[in-house]
Amino acid sequence: MIIPLNQTRADVATAPAPTATYIPAPAEFYRQRGPARDSFQRHINYLRISLTDRCNFRCLYCMPEHGAHFAPRDELLTDAELLRVVQAAAAVGFEKIRLTGGEPTLRRNIIEIVRGIAATPGIREISMTTNGLRLADTAQQLKDAGLTRVNISIDSLDPAKFRSMTRGGDFARVWAGIEAAERVGFRPMKLNAVVVRGLNDDEVADLARLTLDQPWQLRFIEMMPLAGVGELAEQSVVPTTEIIAKLEQVYGPLEFVGWFGSDPARTYRLPGGQGTLGFISSITEPFCSTCNRMRLTADGKLHLCLLRDNELDLRSALRGGASDDDLAALMRQAVWLKPWGHGLPDGIKPTLRGMSELGG
Ligand code: SAM
Ligand code: SF4
Repeated sequence: MIIPLNQTRADVATAPAPTATYIPAPAEFYRQRGPARDSFQRHINYLRISLTDRCNFRCLYCMPEHGAHFAPRDELLTDAELLRVVQAAAAVGFEKIRLTGGEPTLRRNIIEIVRGIAATPGIREISMTTNGLRLADTAQQLKDAGLTRVNISIDSLDPAKFRSMTRGGDFARVWAGIEAAERVGFRPMKLNAVVVRGLNDDEVADLARLTLDQPWQLRFIEMMPLAGVGELAEQSVVPTTEIIAKLEQVYGPLEFVGWFGSDPARTYRLPGGQGTLGFISSITEPFCSTCNRMRLTADGKLHLCLLRDNELDLRSALRGGASDDDLAALMRQAVWLKPWGHGLPDGIKPTLRGMSELGG
Protein backbone atom coordinates (compact mmCIF):
# COMPACT_ATOMS: atom_id res chain seq x y z
CA MET A 1 0.00 0.00 0.00
CA ILE A 2 1.35 3.41 -0.90
CA ILE A 3 -0.04 6.18 1.26
CA PRO A 4 -0.32 9.31 -0.86
CA LEU A 5 1.18 12.57 0.36
CA ASN A 6 -2.01 14.09 1.67
CA GLN A 7 -3.32 11.08 3.63
CA THR A 8 -3.34 10.91 7.43
CA ARG A 9 -3.43 8.06 9.89
CA ALA A 10 -7.21 8.61 10.20
CA ASP A 11 -7.66 8.07 6.45
CA VAL A 12 -5.59 4.93 6.64
CA ALA A 13 -7.62 3.64 9.58
CA THR A 14 -10.83 3.90 7.56
CA ALA A 15 -9.33 2.21 4.49
CA PRO A 16 -10.31 -1.44 3.87
CA ALA A 17 -8.34 -3.85 6.08
CA PRO A 18 -5.26 -5.22 4.32
CA THR A 19 -5.71 -8.79 3.16
CA ALA A 20 -3.09 -11.51 2.93
CA THR A 21 -2.54 -10.67 -0.71
CA TYR A 22 -0.40 -7.85 -1.96
CA ILE A 23 0.02 -5.81 -5.10
CA PRO A 24 3.14 -7.04 -6.89
CA ALA A 25 5.63 -4.50 -8.17
CA PRO A 26 5.24 -3.58 -11.85
CA ALA A 27 7.25 -5.78 -14.23
CA GLU A 28 9.86 -3.07 -14.90
CA PHE A 29 11.17 -3.46 -11.35
CA TYR A 30 11.76 -7.20 -11.91
CA ARG A 31 13.82 -6.45 -15.00
CA GLN A 32 16.14 -3.91 -13.35
CA ARG A 33 19.67 -4.98 -12.39
CA GLY A 34 22.41 -3.32 -10.34
CA PRO A 35 22.05 -1.08 -7.29
CA ALA A 36 18.61 0.51 -6.78
CA ARG A 37 18.32 4.16 -7.84
CA ASP A 38 15.45 6.51 -7.25
CA SER A 39 13.82 8.56 -10.00
CA PHE A 40 16.32 11.38 -9.28
CA GLN A 41 19.25 8.98 -9.81
CA ARG A 42 20.22 8.93 -6.14
CA HIS A 43 21.79 5.61 -5.14
CA ILE A 44 19.85 4.40 -2.10
CA ASN A 45 22.00 1.96 -0.12
CA TYR A 46 21.26 2.62 3.56
CA LEU A 47 18.31 1.03 5.41
CA ARG A 48 17.33 2.22 8.88
CA ILE A 49 15.32 -0.45 10.66
CA SER A 50 13.05 0.40 13.56
CA LEU A 51 13.16 -2.77 15.66
CA THR A 52 10.37 -1.65 17.97
CA ASP A 53 8.13 1.35 18.50
CA ARG A 54 8.39 0.90 22.29
CA CYS A 55 10.77 2.91 24.44
CA ASN A 56 11.92 3.06 28.05
CA PHE A 57 12.19 6.89 27.82
CA ARG A 58 9.62 9.49 26.77
CA CYS A 59 11.85 12.27 25.42
CA LEU A 60 9.69 15.32 25.16
CA TYR A 61 10.84 16.16 21.61
CA CYS A 62 9.96 12.63 20.45
CA MET A 63 7.02 11.02 22.26
CA PRO A 64 3.97 12.19 24.17
CA GLU A 65 4.04 11.52 27.91
CA HIS A 66 0.86 9.46 27.70
CA GLY A 67 -1.16 7.91 24.91
CA ALA A 68 1.60 7.08 22.39
CA HIS A 69 0.45 4.83 19.55
CA PHE A 70 1.99 1.34 19.65
CA ALA A 71 1.43 -1.26 16.94
CA PRO A 72 -0.24 -4.48 18.14
CA ARG A 73 2.26 -7.31 18.52
CA ASP A 74 0.91 -9.35 15.59
CA GLU A 75 1.55 -6.39 13.27
CA LEU A 76 5.26 -6.29 14.12
CA LEU A 77 7.66 -8.08 11.81
CA THR A 78 9.04 -11.31 13.24
CA ASP A 79 12.80 -11.87 13.33
CA ALA A 80 12.57 -14.14 10.29
CA GLU A 81 10.53 -11.56 8.33
CA LEU A 82 13.03 -8.87 9.25
CA LEU A 83 15.94 -10.92 7.98
CA ARG A 84 14.11 -11.59 4.71
CA VAL A 85 13.73 -7.84 4.20
CA VAL A 86 17.44 -7.35 4.89
CA GLN A 87 18.29 -10.04 2.32
CA ALA A 88 15.99 -8.40 -0.25
CA ALA A 89 17.58 -5.03 0.51
CA ALA A 90 21.09 -6.46 0.09
CA ALA A 91 20.01 -8.03 -3.21
CA VAL A 92 19.23 -4.57 -4.63
CA GLY A 93 22.41 -2.93 -3.38
CA PHE A 94 21.76 -1.85 0.22
CA GLU A 95 25.07 -2.11 2.10
CA LYS A 96 24.49 -0.28 5.37
CA ILE A 97 21.96 -1.04 8.09
CA ARG A 98 21.17 1.06 11.16
CA LEU A 99 19.10 -0.45 13.97
CA THR A 100 16.91 2.02 15.76
CA GLY A 101 13.45 2.40 17.25
CA GLY A 102 11.85 3.22 19.74
CA GLU A 103 14.67 1.82 21.75
CA PRO A 104 16.32 -0.99 19.75
CA THR A 105 17.92 -2.65 22.79
CA LEU A 106 14.39 -3.47 24.04
CA ARG A 107 13.88 -5.86 21.11
CA ARG A 108 13.94 -9.48 22.20
CA ASN A 109 16.66 -11.46 20.39
CA ILE A 110 18.57 -8.30 19.49
CA ILE A 111 21.89 -10.18 19.58
CA GLU A 112 20.63 -12.91 17.20
CA ILE A 113 19.16 -10.24 14.90
CA VAL A 114 22.52 -8.45 14.70
CA ARG A 115 24.25 -11.76 14.03
CA GLY A 116 21.77 -12.60 11.28
CA ILE A 117 22.20 -9.23 9.58
CA ALA A 118 25.98 -9.43 9.87
CA ALA A 119 25.88 -12.82 8.10
CA THR A 120 23.88 -11.41 5.16
CA PRO A 121 26.07 -11.24 2.04
CA GLY A 122 26.38 -7.65 0.80
CA ILE A 123 25.86 -5.95 4.17
CA ARG A 124 29.14 -4.31 5.16
CA GLU A 125 28.14 -2.10 8.10
CA ILE A 126 25.61 -2.43 10.95
CA SER A 127 25.23 0.47 13.34
CA MET A 128 22.71 1.34 16.05
CA THR A 129 21.13 4.47 17.47
CA THR A 130 20.30 3.94 21.14
CA ASN A 131 19.50 5.86 24.29
CA GLY A 132 22.32 3.87 25.91
CA LEU A 133 20.35 2.79 28.98
CA ARG A 134 20.97 -0.92 28.41
CA LEU A 135 24.33 -0.62 26.70
CA ALA A 136 26.51 -1.25 29.74
CA ASP A 137 25.11 -4.80 29.86
CA THR A 138 24.94 -5.53 26.14
CA ALA A 139 27.79 -3.65 24.41
CA GLN A 140 30.25 -6.58 24.34
CA GLN A 141 27.64 -9.07 23.07
CA LEU A 142 26.52 -6.63 20.38
CA LYS A 143 30.12 -6.08 19.30
CA ASP A 144 30.80 -9.83 19.19
CA ALA A 145 27.61 -10.35 17.13
CA GLY A 146 28.86 -7.93 14.46
CA LEU A 147 27.62 -4.44 15.39
CA THR A 148 30.20 -1.95 14.11
CA ARG A 149 29.19 1.44 15.53
CA VAL A 150 26.75 3.16 17.89
CA ASN A 151 25.21 6.64 18.13
CA ILE A 152 24.10 7.36 21.69
CA SER A 153 21.59 10.10 22.45
CA ILE A 154 22.54 12.45 25.25
CA ASP A 155 20.86 15.84 25.41
CA SER A 156 22.20 17.10 28.72
CA LEU A 157 25.09 16.46 31.12
CA ASP A 158 23.01 17.65 34.06
CA PRO A 159 21.30 14.57 35.59
CA ALA A 160 18.20 16.54 36.68
CA LYS A 161 17.74 18.16 33.27
CA PHE A 162 18.46 14.84 31.57
CA ARG A 163 15.74 13.23 33.67
CA SER A 164 13.27 15.94 32.76
CA MET A 165 14.04 15.94 29.01
CA THR A 166 13.77 12.16 28.79
CA ARG A 167 10.88 12.09 31.31
CA GLY A 168 12.62 9.79 33.74
CA GLY A 169 15.97 8.79 32.18
CA ASP A 170 18.87 7.84 34.44
CA PHE A 171 21.94 9.84 33.35
CA ALA A 172 24.43 7.68 35.30
CA ARG A 173 23.31 4.50 33.54
CA VAL A 174 23.45 6.16 30.14
CA TRP A 175 26.95 7.44 30.88
CA ALA A 176 27.95 3.89 31.89
CA GLY A 177 26.59 2.82 28.49
CA ILE A 178 28.80 5.39 26.74
CA GLU A 179 31.82 4.15 28.67
CA ALA A 180 31.00 0.54 27.77
CA ALA A 181 30.67 1.47 24.08
CA GLU A 182 34.10 3.12 24.26
CA ARG A 183 35.63 0.15 26.08
CA VAL A 184 34.46 -2.47 23.60
CA GLY A 185 35.71 -0.35 20.70
CA PHE A 186 32.69 1.01 18.83
CA ARG A 187 34.46 3.63 16.68
CA PRO A 188 33.98 6.37 15.74
CA MET A 189 31.63 7.02 18.64
CA LYS A 190 28.90 9.54 17.96
CA LEU A 191 26.71 11.26 20.55
CA ASN A 192 23.42 12.84 19.45
CA ALA A 193 21.89 15.90 21.11
CA VAL A 194 18.60 17.41 19.94
CA VAL A 195 18.78 21.10 20.83
CA VAL A 196 15.50 22.45 22.19
CA ARG A 197 15.07 26.14 22.93
CA GLY A 198 14.64 26.88 26.63
CA LEU A 199 15.68 23.37 27.65
CA ASN A 200 19.24 22.53 26.69
CA ASP A 201 20.33 25.36 24.37
CA ASP A 202 22.29 26.81 27.31
CA GLU A 203 24.33 23.60 27.45
CA VAL A 204 25.76 23.37 23.95
CA ALA A 205 29.20 24.59 25.07
CA ASP A 206 29.35 21.96 27.84
CA LEU A 207 28.29 19.19 25.45
CA ALA A 208 30.82 20.34 22.85
CA ARG A 209 33.56 20.33 25.51
CA LEU A 210 33.40 16.50 25.55
CA THR A 211 35.19 16.57 22.18
CA LEU A 212 38.23 18.39 23.54
CA ASP A 213 39.59 15.27 25.26
CA GLN A 214 37.70 12.45 23.52
CA PRO A 215 37.85 11.43 19.85
CA TRP A 216 34.04 11.43 19.75
CA GLN A 217 31.66 13.25 17.45
CA LEU A 218 29.03 15.34 19.24
CA ARG A 219 26.12 15.85 16.84
CA PHE A 220 23.76 18.77 17.36
CA ILE A 221 20.40 18.06 15.72
CA GLU A 222 17.71 20.60 14.85
CA MET A 223 14.38 19.44 16.23
CA MET A 224 12.03 18.11 13.53
CA PRO A 225 8.22 18.40 13.53
CA LEU A 226 7.25 14.72 13.46
CA ALA A 227 3.72 13.67 14.38
CA GLY A 228 2.89 14.49 17.99
CA VAL A 229 5.62 17.12 18.49
CA GLY A 230 4.93 19.49 15.60
CA GLU A 231 3.93 22.46 17.74
CA LEU A 232 6.84 22.11 20.14
CA ALA A 233 9.21 21.86 17.18
CA GLU A 234 7.84 25.01 15.61
CA GLN A 235 8.41 26.97 18.83
CA SER A 236 11.67 25.36 19.86
CA VAL A 237 13.96 24.69 16.93
CA VAL A 238 17.40 26.22 17.47
CA PRO A 239 19.08 26.90 14.10
CA THR A 240 22.58 25.55 13.57
CA THR A 241 23.89 29.07 12.93
CA GLU A 242 22.79 30.06 16.43
CA ILE A 243 24.47 27.01 18.00
CA ILE A 244 27.70 27.73 16.14
CA ALA A 245 27.59 31.38 17.27
CA LYS A 246 27.20 30.29 20.91
CA LEU A 247 30.14 27.90 20.59
CA GLU A 248 32.37 30.49 18.94
CA GLN A 249 31.67 32.96 21.76
CA VAL A 250 33.20 30.42 24.16
CA TYR A 251 35.89 28.69 22.10
CA GLY A 252 36.71 31.06 19.24
CA PRO A 253 36.32 30.18 15.53
CA LEU A 254 35.47 26.55 14.79
CA GLU A 255 37.54 24.72 12.19
CA PHE A 256 35.45 23.40 9.27
CA VAL A 257 36.40 19.75 8.74
CA GLY A 258 34.06 18.80 5.88
CA TRP A 259 30.67 17.61 4.71
CA PHE A 260 31.27 14.05 3.62
CA GLY A 261 29.21 12.15 1.03
CA SER A 262 25.72 11.37 2.26
CA ASP A 263 26.46 12.16 5.94
CA PRO A 264 23.74 14.61 7.03
CA ALA A 265 26.17 16.26 9.47
CA ARG A 266 28.48 19.11 8.54
CA THR A 267 31.63 18.51 10.56
CA TYR A 268 33.62 21.07 12.54
CA ARG A 269 36.25 20.96 15.28
CA LEU A 270 36.80 23.03 18.42
CA PRO A 271 40.25 24.63 18.46
CA GLY A 272 42.58 21.89 19.76
CA GLY A 273 39.79 19.30 19.94
CA GLN A 274 40.47 15.54 19.70
CA GLY A 275 36.99 14.85 18.40
CA THR A 276 34.59 16.68 16.10
CA LEU A 277 31.22 18.42 16.13
CA GLY A 278 28.47 17.47 13.68
CA PHE A 279 25.59 19.80 12.80
CA ILE A 280 22.43 18.25 11.39
CA SER A 281 20.39 21.14 10.03
CA SER A 282 17.35 19.31 8.65
CA ILE A 283 15.17 22.40 9.03
CA THR A 284 17.37 25.35 8.13
CA GLU A 285 19.63 23.66 5.56
CA PRO A 286 18.09 20.40 4.29
CA PHE A 287 20.41 17.83 2.71
CA CYS A 288 17.82 15.97 0.60
CA SER A 289 19.99 16.02 -2.54
CA THR A 290 22.47 13.62 -0.96
CA CYS A 291 19.92 11.43 0.83
CA ASN A 292 20.80 7.72 0.46
CA ARG A 293 18.39 6.22 2.98
CA MET A 294 15.12 4.41 3.36
CA ARG A 295 13.40 3.39 6.59
CA LEU A 296 11.64 0.18 7.62
CA THR A 297 9.10 0.55 10.42
CA ALA A 298 8.67 -2.13 13.07
CA ASP A 299 5.28 -2.96 11.53
CA GLY A 300 6.81 -3.66 8.14
CA LYS A 301 6.30 -0.51 6.07
CA LEU A 302 9.01 1.06 3.94
CA HIS A 303 8.85 4.74 4.85
CA LEU A 304 10.22 6.63 1.89
CA CYS A 305 11.25 9.99 3.41
CA LEU A 306 11.57 10.81 7.12
CA LEU A 307 9.49 13.99 6.88
CA ARG A 308 6.77 12.74 4.52
CA ASP A 309 4.02 10.18 4.99
CA ASN A 310 4.53 8.00 1.89
CA GLU A 311 4.92 4.29 2.65
CA LEU A 312 5.00 0.97 0.85
CA ASP A 313 3.63 -2.06 2.66
CA LEU A 314 6.12 -4.94 2.79
CA ARG A 315 4.40 -6.84 5.57
CA SER A 316 1.45 -7.80 3.37
CA ALA A 317 3.92 -9.07 0.79
CA LEU A 318 5.88 -11.06 3.39
CA ARG A 319 2.68 -12.60 4.76
CA GLY A 320 1.03 -13.01 1.35
CA GLY A 321 3.54 -15.43 -0.12
CA ALA A 322 5.98 -13.08 -1.88
CA SER A 323 9.08 -14.76 -3.29
CA ASP A 324 12.58 -13.33 -2.81
CA ASP A 325 12.35 -11.86 -6.33
CA ASP A 326 8.98 -10.25 -5.48
CA LEU A 327 10.47 -8.65 -2.36
CA ALA A 328 13.50 -7.37 -4.26
CA ALA A 329 11.20 -5.88 -6.94
CA LEU A 330 9.13 -4.17 -4.24
CA MET A 331 12.31 -2.74 -2.71
CA ARG A 332 13.27 -1.34 -6.12
CA GLN A 333 9.80 0.11 -6.53
CA ALA A 334 9.98 1.78 -3.10
CA VAL A 335 13.37 3.28 -3.95
CA TRP A 336 12.03 4.56 -7.27
CA LEU A 337 9.06 6.20 -5.53
CA LYS A 338 11.24 8.00 -2.97
CA PRO A 339 10.24 11.69 -2.95
CA TRP A 340 12.92 14.26 -3.71
CA GLY A 341 12.78 15.86 -0.28
CA HIS A 342 10.63 17.07 2.52
CA GLY A 343 7.81 19.54 2.02
CA LEU A 344 8.21 21.71 5.12
CA PRO A 345 8.99 24.89 3.13
CA ASP A 346 5.62 24.37 1.33
CA GLY A 347 3.78 23.76 4.60
CA ILE A 348 3.51 19.98 4.12
CA LYS A 349 4.07 18.35 7.49
CA PRO A 350 4.32 14.67 8.42
CA THR A 351 1.21 13.50 10.28
CA LEU A 352 1.37 9.71 10.12
CA ARG A 353 4.08 8.70 12.54
CA GLY A 354 6.16 10.01 15.42
CA MET A 355 9.96 9.82 15.48
CA SER A 356 9.83 6.87 17.88
CA GLU A 357 8.18 4.84 15.10
CA LEU A 358 10.66 5.94 12.45
CA GLY A 359 13.97 5.87 14.26
CA GLY A 360 15.47 9.16 13.18
N1 SAM B 1 15.83 5.50 21.21
C1 SAM B 1 17.01 5.69 20.44
C2 SAM B 1 17.67 7.00 20.74
O1 SAM B 1 17.03 7.86 21.35
O2 SAM B 1 18.81 7.17 20.36
C3 SAM B 1 16.79 5.52 18.97
C4 SAM B 1 15.53 6.12 18.38
S1 SAM B 1 15.48 7.90 18.38
C5 SAM B 1 13.94 8.20 17.62
C6 SAM B 1 16.69 8.28 17.13
C7 SAM B 1 17.22 9.69 17.16
O3 SAM B 1 16.16 10.57 16.83
C8 SAM B 1 17.76 10.13 18.49
O4 SAM B 1 19.06 10.63 18.34
C9 SAM B 1 16.82 11.23 18.92
O5 SAM B 1 17.47 12.20 19.67
C10 SAM B 1 16.33 11.76 17.59
N2 SAM B 1 15.06 12.46 17.65
C11 SAM B 1 13.93 12.09 18.28
N3 SAM B 1 12.94 12.98 18.08
C12 SAM B 1 13.45 13.95 17.29
C13 SAM B 1 12.94 15.14 16.72
N4 SAM B 1 11.67 15.52 16.91
N5 SAM B 1 13.76 15.89 15.95
C14 SAM B 1 15.04 15.52 15.72
N6 SAM B 1 15.58 14.40 16.22
C15 SAM B 1 14.80 13.62 17.01
FE1 SF4 C 1 12.84 6.89 23.16
FE2 SF4 C 1 14.83 7.60 21.58
FE3 SF4 C 1 12.41 8.77 21.32
FE4 SF4 C 1 13.89 9.27 23.43
S1 SF4 C 1 14.42 9.76 21.31
S2 SF4 C 1 11.70 8.73 23.46
S3 SF4 C 1 14.94 7.39 23.80
S4 SF4 C 1 12.88 6.67 20.94
